[in-house]
Amino acid sequence: MKRKNLSEEQKEYQALLQSVTDYVIAVNRNYQIIMANDLFINKLGARSEGFCYKAWKNRDDKCDDCLVEKSFRDGRVHQNEEAIVLKDGRIAQMLIKSTPVKDDQGKIVYVLEAATDITEKKRLQQELKSVKGNLEKIIDARLNHLQKSEEKYRTIFERSRDALILTDSNGKIMEINRAGVEILGYRNKEDLLDLTSVKELFKDPEEFYQFQKQAFGEGVVTEFEVRLVGGKSRSFDALITSNVILDLIGRIIGYVIIIRDITKRKKAQQQIEMRNTRLAILNAISMTISNSLDLNEVLNSTIDKIRELLESDSVRIYLLDGKRNVLNLAAHKGLSSEFISKSHIRHREVGAGFLGQAVLACETRVVDNIEAFEDSYAVLMVMECVDSTAFIRVVSNGQPLWVMVVSSYSGFKFSANYVDFLTAIGNQIGVAVDNANLYENLKRAYQKLKEAQEQVIRTEKLASLGKLAATVAHEINNPLAAVLTYTRLMMKLMSRGRFTQERLEDIARYLTIMESETARCGEIVKNLLAFSRQPKITMETSSIEELIEKTLVLISHDLEMKNIQLVKEIEPDLPKIKCSSRHIQQALLNLLSNASEAMTEGGTLTVTAKRSKSDGFVEAVISDTGCGISEEDLKNIFEPFFTTKEEGRGVGLGLSVVHGIITRHNGSIEIESKPDEGSTFKVRLPTVR
Ligand code: ADP
Repeated sequence: MKRKNLSEEQKEYQALLQSVTDYVIAVNRNYQIIMANDLFINKLGARSEGFCYKAWKNRDDKCDDCLVEKSFRDGRVHQNEEAIVLKDGRIAQMLIKSTPVKDDQGKIVYVLEAATDITEKKRLQQELKSVKGNLEKIIDARLNHLQKSEEKYRTIFERSRDALILTDSNGKIMEINRAGVEILGYRNKEDLLDLTSVKELFKDPEEFYQFQKQAFGEGVVTEFEVRLVGGKSRSFDALITSNVILDLIGRIIGYVIIIRDITKRKKAQQQIEMRNTRLAILNAISMTISNSLDLNEVLNSTIDKIRELLESDSVRIYLLDGKRNVLNLAAHKGLSSEFISKSHIRHREVGAGFLGQAVLACETRVVDNIEAFEDSYAVLMVMECVDSTAFIRVVSNGQPLWVMVVSSYSGFKFSANYVDFLTAIGNQIGVAVDNANLYENLKRAYQKLKEAQEQVIRTEKLASLGKLAATVAHEINNPLAAVLTYTRLMMKLMSRGRFTQERLEDIARYLTIMESETARCGEIVKNLLAFSRQPKITMETSSIEELIEKTLVLISHDLEMKNIQLVKEIEPDLPKIKCSSRHIQQALLNLLSNASEAMTEGGTLTVTAKRSKSDGFVEAVISDTGCGISEEDLKNIFEPFFTTKEEGRGVGLGLSVVHGIITRHNGSIEIESKPDEGSTFKVRLPTVR
């Protein structure tokens, strides 16, 4: 390197230049490098000698925008950024500054060109720039998003039909939406923001503490039902949902409170509940009244149900006597006997007083302040301490039928709803009353029919008795004639003096005949009495098996005499029957005697007892292998006095007595018979349940 004579100062200066991290050269007016520091020499190499433009840019002549020239010209510092190719081929971005160096006279001696490698700085700047650019974009996007979200939330906030409230941690309202102002019944938002705390919105402070406790403890409150009080002291039922708002370190900074006015919902719910209760009541009443057809029972049970379910204090029901134009008290409950004993309470002319007018009015009338009316009948009600009374007219088939009077003593006033409901109950009972009336008519018609039937039976019985008298006369006449004949004969014999042995034998024979004829008369009379009296049956629980056994004892001797074989088939553990044992025994005896009589030359008598195929009955069957009955005779077999037996052996009352007894026990009797083969009598009797 070519060195000039340097002053001391210059030497110092050069030493200083060596120590800096910049590339430094000193250039004279001819652009020749007169000095270069080591860094410059090392990094730019041979270019440190010669012209500065060669050194920096490897050019052969001066740069267009030469800094050295500028500094020489105006004596100032100039700078420029240049890309410089270093010795190792790396391109460095340099900030080159030209600083004029002057001598003592102020003359510019040379210009120092110092270049700082700003490649890294530039790169960083570039990077920073791009990061900054990205960051800005991100921030922009975020801001945009936030703005949109905020708009969205604001819209939701404002459009919500529920009240949305944001409070600080002390419960002071910070923000509330339009619906909130409306729901809470305030004129403007500011009034709500002025409240010290949401606590002021709670009707019962205790409810607020509960709400606060839950919000504080659990961080969330869902569907908390409270009564709130808003502007103009309007109170209403509300559902509150709330969430706490936390900051980054989990401290409560406020609450979001959502309030829903549930007044309408509650009202609807109450209405549904009321409707359900009423339906249940109507149902209960219709169940009660459909269980009976007895008018009295229907009315009384209805009154009971109304009082029980509707908490009404007294109920009266009047039936209209359309012919006399009078309402008659048919049923009542809850009124003093003194009140009820009054004749105008028991009966009321149509049109007289509220009650009498109720029949004519189309609508149910409610009287709350009865003392205010100039109604002579009202005095009684005032004395009875009646507070509110509903007069309900009930119509059936378009005709007023009766009036129901429901009273309360407790200050309870009948609402329009309540009255509608009472009217519905009234109509329901109207139907029942109609049915009960129909039933009453039916009952009367049935009673008449029964009386007519009894009359026919009596007449028939008389006819039977006439027939009986003739038969009896005939039946009794023969034995009596025999008795008379033999009596006369004996008297004649006696008038002839002493009796010979032969005569005595005759007399004994006559007496035997007389005895048997008299006994026959006795038998006829006994059967006749059994038929005509038909004494009242007294029922007891008996075993059919026992009754059969007892009856068979009576006839066993007879069976033995006639060489009849007895077969018994009794099912074990037969259910008991409810009967008059004496009568059933009589019926069985008649059947067994007939069977025995049918087997004149011996045979088999089969007696069986078993459960009947039809439920709740036992069956006793008596079969014989006797003469049987012709088809023709079978038709008349139960007719009184029908007999095929020769005179003196049968009177034809046995089977008609059997039939009477069995039917009066609600049983039945059937016959199967074939001439010369035998007969089977099947008796069915109901068992005890
Ligand atoms: P009576 O025995 O006095 O004739 P009943 O009323 O008991 O009166 O019987 C009426 C008639 O029915 C009898 O005369 C007889 O002809 C017929 N009869 C009843 N039971 C039998 C029987 N087991 N076998 C055949 N005929 C019978």
